[in-house]
Amino acid sequence: MKSLNNILVDGSYSMDKEDLLCYGYDASGLDMSPSAVVWPASASDICKLMQFAYQNDIKVIPRGAGTGLTGGAVPSNDSIIMSFERMNRIIEVDTRNLNVVLEPGVINGDLQQTLAEHGYFYPPDPASLNTCTIGGNVAENAGGPRALKYGVTRDYVMQLEAVLPDGRLIHTGVQTKKSVVGYDLTRLLVGSEGTLAVITKVRLKILPMPESVITLLVAFNSLEQAGKSVSRIISDGIIPRTMELMDRITLAAVNKYKTVGFPEDIDALLLIEIDGSANAIAADADKAANICNGFQGKIRIADDTASRELLWDARRSVSPALYKISPTKINEDVVVPVTKVPELLAGLQALSEASGVPIACFGHAGDGNIHVNIMTDKNDKKRYDEAEKLVRKTFKLTLDLGGSISGEHGIGLTKSKYIDMELDTVNLDIMRGIKKLFDTKNILNPGKIFPPKVHT
Ligand SMILES: Cc1cc2nc3c(=O)[nH]c(=O)nc-3n(C[C@H](O)[C@H](O)[C@H](O)COP(=O)(O)OP(=O)(O)OC[C@H]3O[C@@H](n4cnc5c(N)ncnc54)[C@H](O)[C@@H]3O)c2cc1C
Repeated sequence: MKSLNNILVDGSYSMDKEDLLCYGYDASGLDMSPSAVVWPASASDICKLMQFAYQNDIKVIPRGAGTGLTGGAVPSNDSIIMSFERMNRIIEVDTRNLNVVLEPGVINGDLQQTLAEHGYFYPPDPASLNTCTIGGNVAENAGGPRALKYGVTRDYVMQLEAVLPDGRLIHTGVQTKKSVVGYDLTRLLVGSEGTLAVITKVRLKILPMPESVITLLVAFNSLEQAGKSVSRIISDGIIPRTMELMDRITLAAVNKYKTVGFPEDIDALLLIEIDGSANAIAADADKAANICNGFQGKIRIADDTASRELLWDARRSVSPALYKISPTKINEDVVVPVTKVPELLAGLQALSEASGVPIACFGHAGDGNIHVNIMTDKNDKKRYDEAEKLVRKTFKLTLDLGGSISGEHGIGLTKSKYIDMELDTVNLDIMRGIKKLFDTKNILNPGKIFPPKVHT
């Protein structure tokens, strides 16, 4: 590692204990100290670093802001963490062609703010947007509340510049709306969790801000009724931009964490936002409200920006609020077809009752993506073992309903042992082959996604 000074200037790498400590974790709760941290300033720095790593068989772990929930950015103790704080420029905002060009270290929320000043927005809005980076969003194919109407990161990435594990620079994708020239390497790299290439530049689609937004807050006395409302709204052809669900445990946790004043004597709350032209959204909001009424939902409208912001601030604090009451909770991120949301919620309630372990559910119910929080305590071995069994049962329930074990958080380290519940050997063999083709020496973020036997 000492020879890093032949590649990078002073101040752009560190082997100090305090730096190693600060870069050895992510939001999964896992941590490990790397051997060094590097802060490259350009793609050319990264090419040199990867050539050095390739020649010396050194592992490199790309890291954005460390908000990943599955251990994707967690190092091993013989690896280099590559962090992108110095590559955080918004290079170009092209409103005429509706796209932007960015370095990977740009914070999602900073991009949103810059675009809002021009009257535009970038739809993927993870609840972590004030912290997470665009590089991390691309690597995880991040979603967010607005994915219901607008889709996920993959739907917005037009072009990538990336450095391969042996140090070669590649450019993928096009600036145009269409192209059918060879395989779509851009889509392959999006969601590859930092295992195939280091992303150094991104061109993303953007959209003009919608004319108006209506925000409805609907309280239910039954989680299942809330789920049924979500499913009916979509099947009746209304596509809100968000339909976020919070259950009873979640509401109580947020109230404890922040002064929000969510009602606590209810079983579920839906946060529904409809955007578009003023006339169209008024009609859709009426229809959505009528559907919720039919399932005994009680409706309130947040009609000014300040109260809307307050609600979103509360929604974005759900994850830390739940961690506060249960620091070693297990957080899963399953997704089912939207018509199956009521069955998923009922199934999870039944699993919780049968095991005696509380399960908090919240998340992007409108696109079927429910964050399942198994509220356990690592110090209580019996309860923790029971909770771990619940993970497998939750995944089985999800897959039986035609769903997927991860809607947006990826596989990383924490879910790799479950990947074969969803993917068969043929799929896994092809994916392992792709990893090998990109990374012959298995030095870029090794041990992630695939169960350990892959790398033997
Ligand atoms: C409170 C909270 C709320 C969240 N809400 C959402 C949500 O609504 N939707 C959602 O999708 N996720 C959500 N997440 C998860 C997380 O924020 C996202 O996965 C996010 O995209 C991670 O970005 P990051 O910059 O923190 O990346 P990190 O956690 O640092 O890294 C994530 C992965 O990306 C790789 N990586 C990072 N940068 C690069 C790069 N330049 N090149 C190649 N690989 C790279 C890393 O190796 C790692 O595998 C939430 C997390 C928290 C803590």
